[in-house]
Amino acid sequence: MDYRQIPAIFVADALGLDFLNSVATPVDEEVDWISDGEGLLAWLEQAGMVPGEALAAMRAQSEPAELDAVAEQARALREWFRGFVRERKGRPLAAGDVRELAPLNRLLERDERYGEIVAADTNAESTFEFRSNRRWKSPESLLTPIAEALARLVCDEDFTHVKACEGPRCTLMFADHTRGHARRWCSMAICGNRAKAAAHRKRLKEREAS
Ligand SMILES: [Zn+2]
Repeated sequence: MDYRQIPAIFVADALGLDFLNSVATPVDEEVDWISDGEGLLAWLEQAGMVPGEALAAMRAQSEPAELDAVAEQARALREWFRGFVRERKGRPLAAGDVRELAPLNRLLERDERYGEIVAADTNAESTFEFRSNRRWKSPESLLTPIAEALARLVCDEDFTHVKACEGPRCTLMFADHTRGHARRWCSMAICGNRAKAAAHRKRLKEREAS
């Protein structure tokens, strides 16, 4: 199914997991929101990872084939990282896991950040604000904010509460930040209601049988 027909899914409560969820089967067919360069640009904008004007400049100065190639790299990064998370979710990460994360560190090394002092809103406490910006030199630079989101996931998130949705055919993952850590579904709209309907049908059938 064409990703343009359906909005990307941001239900993970952690941007790094939202990135893994950029391929999903929300209805019957699989949708990959980063299946090409345009898709990647649109997804990055929806995720708030790259400013709109930087994306517009990137689109203007790059060949579609270059952007498609970066989308391919992003998909490879996604599937590699999915393996890492699937193997380790549900328990705390171990220090030794850092060895597996070397590819992420290599991507992070390329980051071109710089700071900027800007005037704050008139009613803000301080006169100035420190803003963190990035240089977007090449299409590959689009991978750095993704690498940062994945790095933040492993650094900031307790993997004990990283879960896969219990929907039987659902591939979505999320960080369970609910108080009792009782979250079971990617979202009520996608899988929660489906599960409720299935339970309801089962109860009806049991009632008919008795
Ligand atoms: Zn689900």
